[in-house]
Amino acid sequence: MTDWAARAGALYDGGFRPMFIGGAWVPARSGAVIEARNPATGARLATVPRGAAADVEAAVAAARRAFEGPWSRFTPFERQALLLRIAERFEAEWETLCLSDTLDMGMPIARTLANRRRVIGMLRFYAGQAVALHGATIPNSFPGEILSQTVKEPVGVVGAIIPWNAPIAGSVWKVAPALATGCTVVLKPSEEASLTVLLIARLMQEAGLPEGVVNIVTGTGAEAGAALAAHPGVDKIVFTGSTATGQAIARAATGTLKRVSLELGGKSPVIVCRDADIDKAVPVAAMAVFANSGQICIAGSRLFVAREIHDSFVARVADYARGLRIGHGIDPETEIGPIISARQADRIEDFLAAGPGEGAELLAGGRALSGPGFEGGRFIAPTVFGGVTDEMRIAREEIFGPVISALPFDTFEEVVARANATPYGLAAGVFTTHLGTAHKLARRLRAGSVWVNMYHAIDPAVPFGGVKMSGYGREGGIEHLDEYLDTKAIWINTD
Ligand code: NAD
Repeated sequence: MTDWAARAGALYDGGFRPMFIGGAWVPARSGAVIEARNPATGARLATVPRGAAADVEAAVAAARRAFEGPWSRFTPFERQALLLRIAERFEAEWETLCLSDTLDMGMPIARTLANRRRVIGMLRFYAGQAVALHGATIPNSFPGEILSQTVKEPVGVVGAIIPWNAPIAGSVWKVAPALATGCTVVLKPSEEASLTVLLIARLMQEAGLPEGVVNIVTGTGAEAGAALAAHPGVDKIVFTGSTATGQAIARAATGTLKRVSLELGGKSPVIVCRDADIDKAVPVAAMAVFANSGQICIAGSRLFVAREIHDSFVARVADYARGLRIGHGIDPETEIGPIISARQADRIEDFLAAGPGEGAELLAGGRALSGPGFEGGRFIAPTVFGGVTDEMRIAREEIFGPVISALPFDTFEEVVARANATPYGLAAGVFTTHLGTAHKLARRLRAGSVWVNMYHAIDPAVPFGGVKMSGYGREGGIEHLDEYLDTKAIWINTD
């Protein structure tokens, strides 16, 4: 059995980890650094460069040189081979990648390890797509022999900005389709969790990534992120993060009218109908929120339950919440890890106070954990509120923590209207044994993904994204490729 604690000490020793620009490992031009700390213990893992506008400038220049230089001469089959070699490196170093994420952002090791199929599958899926990109020959209305056809061309230099809550999947989701389509990338990880992204760059380099094709600039959002979003040399921004930052990025991008796709926040509904299979629904509805301590964009944080079964169902979800094992992520038995930072924990605790303040009934959790095992970080007990109404803050705002708001409902039309009455539209869950109800709810809910009798499923081949203020654009599936491609029309007079 893997001794994760021993491996952790060998992986990060508190030293400096440079960033990756133009194929070289470099510090920030200013020399400034950010400390990377383990959110479970508070221990310093490493320091990383605090990149800013000058570093973004260098990275965009490197990405442009690569895009217009050697990388443009890579055939689709060579790009495919590169992606497959990267997938091999990921296979070989999977445990190290997962351990790095667990140390840097707290996700329990059992959960990071479980993402293997999805992440490595993503690299292989887009390797397949690299050789399947094509345009069309299109009949036209001109008399005579005029040929019209389309070709698909890479959009150019992609600026990718990701949050801290899933660094491995988040960065691969941005980089794999870029490599498949022939784009180049400047990737800015979150200042809260940069270490695994630097490790990923190392693996890509070892797999033969040409210099400048992927560049990593570590740094804060206000400095490195904003400089990237506004940079005139960037053709496209792909962003995952909060709705407020997405709005700032969309505004910054208008300067050069660069293309933007946004994967933002949510307040996703989970609907449990009277005829649901309760035994199966309870753990899934609970983990729809509690996974990764609720720090997931798709958290099904509004739990609508048919009034006839509401009290018994919610009592069982509360029991389930009380049974979850909370602790350090490197313990393989841990189900719920720490909250990423004191700032996020303070925000969540504010909601824990707001719930009862507005009249919600606390059924489980509702408090921060302290004492042995919890000294170095911030941990919050999985929380279930009953008696919640649609107007309460806990039912309206994204908490990004382990907090369920349970709401009873009476009729189909009522629950559809209430589930959709949110500015967000990222995901939704439905639990029912009635096929017709499943279909009708799936069609009526305004969300980018609807899961029926399941939750959380994300797959390389299936598009994922939001509607309304959860953003626009899709990641995953062949739809993702369109985000990185332009369509050019070519006309040929054959006479
Ligand atoms: P955040 O918006 O604070 O930060 C995300 C990234 O944007 C970070 O790299 C940050 O440095 C950068 N950033 C911040 N300000 C910026 C600016 N002005 N210009 C450019 N970049 C800037 O989000 P977070 O706290 O890291 O993550 C939590 C949020 O992400 C939640 O709202 C969650 O719902 C959302 N999220 C969405 C998805 C999805 O796929 N829809 C997935 C994960 C997380």
